[in-house]
Amino acid sequence: MNSERTREPDSAKEVVFSANGKISELPQVTELPVAERMGVTFARACQLAKLKIHTIGDAFFYTPSRYEDRRDIRQIGMLKKGESALVLGEVIGVKIKRFRSSRKFVCEVLIKDESGELYCQWWNQTWPADVFRRADKAILFGKVTRGGAKIQFVVQEYEILRDDRDIRLSTGRIVPVYPLTEGMTQRWLRGFISGVLKRFLQDLPEGEKYDEKWGFPGRREAIEQLHYPSLPGNEERARQRLAMDELLEMQLEIQKRRQRLRQLAHGITCPGDNHLIKPFLRELPFTLTQGQMEVLREIRADFNSGIPMRRLLQGDVGSGKTVTAACCALMLIEGDYNVVLMAPTEVLASQHARTFRKWFDPLGVPVRLWTGRIKQEEDLLSLATETHHTGKSGIVIGTHALIENTFQIDRLGLVIIDEQHKFGVEQRERLLKKGSRPHLLVMTATPIPRTLGLTVYGELDTSCIRQMPQGRGTVRTFLRNRDKSEEIWNFAKSQLKKGRQIYVIYPLIDESSKPDIRAVEKEFLSISARIAPYKAGLLHGRMKGEEKDYIMSQFAGNQVQVLVSTSVVEVGVDVPNATVMIIENAECFGLAQLHQLRGRIGRGKENSYCILLMGIDKEESWRRLKILEESRDGFRIAEEDLKQRGPGDFLGERQHGAPMFRFANLIYDYNLIQEARKLALAKVNSTGIFNGENEGIGYE
Ligand code: ADP
Ligand code: MG
Repeated sequence: MNSERTREPDSAKEVVFSANGKISELPQVTELPVAERMGVTFARACQLAKLKIHTIGDAFFYTPSRYEDRRDIRQIGMLKKGESALVLGEVIGVKIKRFRSSRKFVCEVLIKDESGELYCQWWNQTWPADVFRRADKAILFGKVTRGGAKIQFVVQEYEILRDDRDIRLSTGRIVPVYPLTEGMTQRWLRGFISGVLKRFLQDLPEGEKYDEKWGFPGRREAIEQLHYPSLPGNEERARQRLAMDELLEMQLEIQKRRQRLRQLAHGITCPGDNHLIKPFLRELPFTLTQGQMEVLREIRADFNSGIPMRRLLQGDVGSGKTVTAACCALMLIEGDYNVVLMAPTEVLASQHARTFRKWFDPLGVPVRLWTGRIKQEEDLLSLATETHHTGKSGIVIGTHALIENTFQIDRLGLVIIDEQHKFGVEQRERLLKKGSRPHLLVMTATPIPRTLGLTVYGELDTSCIRQMPQGRGTVRTFLRNRDKSEEIWNFAKSQLKKGRQIYVIYPLIDESSKPDIRAVEKEFLSISARIAPYKAGLLHGRMKGEEKDYIMSQFAGNQVQVLVSTSVVEVGVDVPNATVMIIENAECFGLAQLHQLRGRIGRGKENSYCILLMGIDKEESWRRLKILEESRDGFRIAEEDLKQRGPGDFLGERQHGAPMFRFANLIYDYNLIQEARKLALAKVNSTGIFNGENEGIGYE
């Protein structure tokens, strides 16, 4: 069973600060093996393990899925026809009654309390006859269908109680209803957990005392109320208190790491003298926006602070992050450092390489591409060696192939990660390890909701480009049913005649599955026929890198006017002449993803049109996607997406599916998160206890 044990929940650890400023973790009551301590059978222990209850802490924090209010138990004799009520009594008879006139039957369990007798009925069911035994105590909730001498009651919920302890636990109060597993009853688990609480809760340290304005119960009290709230609503207070513990622990961890980084403070300072940036900006066909300039100032300050930069650059799709990143790269290259830029797809990495070559070739700054495919051809001349010989610094652009050991680089000054939500934290860290504490700039076009900004991304400073470059056409979005496709294609053709280009996007559940790809290939043929003499190209994840590159460059060069694609174009692709995007089965995508996709159009000065086709006419999908018609504000859309789909899409790959907290909620607990952060900052600053050297550097 040990192998089944999951990682210890964070909340079950108590961080203890000792006088000499070191942090130690004492073994806690919460970490003791619960099955062993409670002396349950092996079979029970297995069942508990299925519920992930391994330790005493797991039992403390095992959260009911709901509660039943059993405070108001009624006297049977006082029941009136038509009312719903809860009764408690002893079983005195069980039978099944059949009706000759119809095929109906009813199972009746007769129970009594000191005030009267009650016929509890289940229509057309026989199983209660096997479940209830004479002399059992039972608590039942239902509706009185007949009053008077023979009171009848149709049962909605019931529970059999075997002894006085059951009755104490399960009646006369608000009672927890726990998620169960096969072979386990509510009654047993309730008894078990309440046993754990009774024996061990007193050993749990009270933990942090929060400001009174929050009105939080103490920690032990919170756990009690989580299981047996004395008033409705107390369970939510309890949850918040326990959530706060989790959040505080996380924030302490974040602040601790930031402090370590600051203490190590061997940040690469860059003595950039603008000899590259000046001609670069002069030759750009546009001037940077205020927003871009501001971000560059922030970053320049980071570069000169002596502390390795850890910065998240947010900016809505099309706000011009790439050119901003290019400026940052030049600042380091001027100081004779190398720069690495990692992008999530080959399509995007090649596009970046093309863009950067256009920008950097005139400056004599080398740009190399390093993807799984290309490195073999070019690695003989890898930047590292070349630099060694010529003393010339430059930038390497690539995919996650950059993380592999085959890629090495000298004097790494800056790591830039584009569309960082496509990568996990570990991948980021591994890339950073190729140098000695280089600066880090991560970029995202999916705005990060506030709560995640303070937690998942809490270790990063953030910059934001809020403004779009001038002179962009508008983008209008339309939700349409699929049966409108004739009209839509007529419109599309009129745009083609004007010289514009078009994306058609298909959602694929599985890019590696043949039938799925075939469906897109079929659509591609019919579209090709439809738009002749204009040309269509096909792009999907199963194609070889060379093919993808070729198609993309054909589309970028307008030799191909319609790009039929899966969502591989989702991130970063930049073809300003494309003004129409038709998304098939839009309901298959998340909001943030659709917002990303439509960010591919509206990049030129012409007006653009995004048409979301609904494959199934479901009201719910319409309602869900409506916000895209109304808003182009990526931040608003990201918040909405978080509510609709949870945080998975915003987290790096690694965190997918693994909930970070038991109690804290990344969608709704913004206030708590903020408070926890404040508290953690105050603690770290007032004590200055974190001494990096003995802790490992973690964030090297
Ligand atoms: P994103 O922020 O989504 O990565 P890009 O960096 O791809 O956006 O920029 C989108 C387009 O806007 C590119 O064609 C880029 O050259 C252009 N662009 C960037 N900055 C400006 C600016 N200040 N003025 C005009 N166009 C700009
Ligand atoms: Mg981009």
